[in-house]
Amino acid sequence: MAVKQDLRTPIVSVMGHVDHGKTTLLDRIRGSTVAEGEAGAITQHIGATEVPIDIIVNKCGNPDLRNKFIVPGLLFIDTPGHHAFTSLRSRGGSLADLAIVIIDINEGFMPQTIESLQILKRFKTPFVVVANKIDRIHGWEAQKNAPFIVSYNKQADNVKAELDRKFYEIVGELYEAGFNSERHDRVSDFQRNIGIIPISAMTGEGIPDVLMVLLGLAQRFLEGNLHYNANGPGVGTVLEVKEEKGLGTTIDVILYDGTLKKGDMIVVGSLGKPIQTKVRALLKPRPLSEIKAEEKFKQVQSVTAAIGVKISAPNLDSALAGSPVRVVTPENIDAISDEIQNEIEDVQIDTDAMGITIKADTIGSLEALVNELKKEEIPIRKASVGDVSQRDIVEIAAIEDPFYKVIIGFNVKVLPDAKEKLQDSDIRSFMSDIIYRLIDDYEDWAKEQKELAEKEMTEHIVKPGRFQILPNCTFRQSKPAVVGVKIIGGVVKTNVDVTTEDGTVVGKVKGLQLSGENISKARVGMEVALALEGPTVGRQIKEEDFLFVNIPERHAKTLENEIYDTLTADELETLDAFLEIKRRGNPFWAK
Ligand code: GDP
Repeated sequence: MAVKQDLRTPIVSVMGHVDHGKTTLLDRIRGSTVAEGEAGAITQHIGATEVPIDIIVNKCGNPDLRNKFIVPGLLFIDTPGHHAFTSLRSRGGSLADLAIVIIDINEGFMPQTIESLQILKRFKTPFVVVANKIDRIHGWEAQKNAPFIVSYNKQADNVKAELDRKFYEIVGELYEAGFNSERHDRVSDFQRNIGIIPISAMTGEGIPDVLMVLLGLAQRFLEGNLHYNANGPGVGTVLEVKEEKGLGTTIDVILYDGTLKKGDMIVVGSLGKPIQTKVRALLKPRPLSEIKAEEKFKQVQSVTAAIGVKISAPNLDSALAGSPVRVVTPENIDAISDEIQNEIEDVQIDTDAMGITIKADTIGSLEALVNELKKEEIPIRKASVGDVSQRDIVEIAAIEDPFYKVIIGFNVKVLPDAKEKLQDSDIRSFMSDIIYRLIDDYEDWAKEQKELAEKEMTEHIVKPGRFQILPNCTFRQSKPAVVGVKIIGGVVKTNVDVTTEDGTVVGKVKGLQLSGENISKARVGMEVALALEGPTVGRQIKEEDFLFVNIPERHAKTLENEIYDTLTADELETLDAFLEIKRRGNPFWAK
């Protein structure tokens, strides 16, 4: 066999929308091989299942393949979904070397399908799409565990046509999501095209293809990533922190490099200082044959990557899912603790002075959420792992800017005492287990808020206005002066102050009339009668004078800095002319 001794088993994660068949697919990959009397060869790990290369090659029915492959098999993570995927992080990347995105061919794309693809794109993880539940296509004649093409060729023409139609809908949806794709047996370059494998996780049709394509991807893309040192110190990632009867808090770990032994000193990431502890026991699931034994787990002395194992050790209570686990020596324990602490803080502390608050269930999902928010240029004040606590709410309540009085929670709960405080506050909370939905919802809300705020602002703000007193249209000299005017730019409302072209305030608009009717505002182009309290025509103001609405300094600032974009061309021109007058005397006016 051509297995290279220094290449470890690639780690595979299954992702996709709920109910599209992730669990069934994993069961099928495990179960069908068990059913064929090869149970002994499949290794059940903690949190993962290993399918050795021999079994895969046998299933694919072509022994020549054996010489083509260089990896010892495939290690499937048992917990499906992007939650597990993001937990499985390693130094900002993903621990999963490969992924399967499963789509119900009868339903097509769903929110978590898109989410899975976005995550994979970001992590640059090679993946294959499986179009599941082909057995549900009307008229399908199931061919148990057959390779796809064998089964496809046995179907009636109209059934084939229906499969093709549904299949190409998925191709279209993938294209919209930014991926070129084709049926797996037609893909010649997996670098440029995503392979889609039609399967039935129920009948096993297409499963041999899934295993083959995964091996192909490993072969093509991963050789450089899979080198490891079997004799080196163990390195892994915490998949889950779990309470076990009789053992206390344990951690389920995927070890991806080196060896881990009972009695080893390890460092584990936590929310505070990393935990330094000693492995009390290494546990693996008990084989089915020994099911009568009392303990669920069986102790082993040592494990070598890639493998899933449960670690029992003192002081694991504050261990953090998604954080690193490393075997250390007395010489490097402090240096490695610092490294792990920095790595975790990098995710949590890389935040802005002002912004929203986010919480996520694991360090990996937090990292994914932070990245997506940064991409959208949404500032983050604080990012941390854990449920929403009372303290979070108190902190956010103290923020003044309503746009940042916001908490976004991914896969977390609001703790009971925080719930009440949250309800009584004006904090806006967004909770979901779909990252892009959180971001979309927040952005929609923020946009709406911004529009509202702008509307409110513009309704109260004195807008620019310029008008000219028309010749021979003085209806009354003073108290108030009533003159015919033409609005040259912007808008003139009642109760605004009026200034001359040299910046002197001369009076206040008391009333506006259009064809004998009172109106509250006159817009550009209109000719109206205007009553001005203050000046006398012929003294402070004259016919044919140009006059301006006097904009208070604070309003002028808002107009220029905040809502400039929303002003019309004539309003802008009028504002600029007005500012020029004001700044003639004082260049810093309204700056
Ligand atoms: P998950 O939520 O993605 O893990 O989905 P499950 O594996 O739990 O599957 C959801 C439902 O779809 C279950 O009732 C499965 O029996 C069913 N299912 C999964 N795969 C197939 C398939 O290939 N064909 C059919 N007919 N049903 C399937």
